[in-house]
Amino acid sequence: MLHQLWRAGLALISSPCCPVCTRATDADLPVCVGCQQRLGLVEGGLLGDEPLLWCALGTYAGELRRLLLRQRPTPRPAVIRALAAQLHRCCTGALPPGCLLVPIPSWKRSANPLPQLLAAGLAEQAGPGAHLAPGLLKRARATVGQHHLDRRQRLDNQRGSFACVAGMGRAPVWLVDDILTTGATALAAATALQNDGWAVQGLLCLGRTPPGGARRDLGCPGR
Ligand SMILES: [Zn+2]
Repeated sequence: MLHQLWRAGLALISSPCCPVCTRATDADLPVCVGCQQRLGLVEGGLLGDEPLLWCALGTYAGELRRLLLRQRPTPRPAVIRALAAQLHRCCTGALPPGCLLVPIPSWKRSANPLPQLLAAGLAEQAGPGAHLAPGLLKRARATVGQHHLDRRQRLDNQRGSFACVAGMGRAPVWLVDDILTTGATALAAATALQNDGWAVQGLLCLGRTPPGGARRDLGCPGR
């Protein structure tokens, strides 16, 4: 009996745990299969090319939305690292050696920490070939909250809101954000970098707001 208890305890200690649900998992996965299903994570990621190339882990709804809303004010590094690793599995081939990962900066004083943490997690996964470049992009001016804006209003709101800090780079650049809604923010960020000669490849993010959900989803930070 004691022997069995000892072995069970040892298995618990030595088994890897899923950082999202903290349960032991046998599989060598960043996020356990149960959490992948619960969060609606899509094998290979959700992909699109409007208004720029993008890859997301899943739809920003249900459990994934609730998880990200909890993580934004009080991020758990292990959870964000696991989500970054899961996202990296979706976009490994798109990260060429020497590419830059640029988190989209927030204009709010209480900045959303997730883009920076996600970009750092992706850089960690990608190894020495990819570089975190948080200083490449800054906010040129404040923007208003976008919860109740439609796509055209968001484009107007974001136009010219970013500035590139270092011009004429040669490395391919991936923007990183937690959520993609209409893409107005990502597009404005990409334009600022492209105007200074950077080759922006697209956006890597965790959740994609479902079509038509931009104005309904009051928990959305307005990307
Ligand atoms: Zn799990």
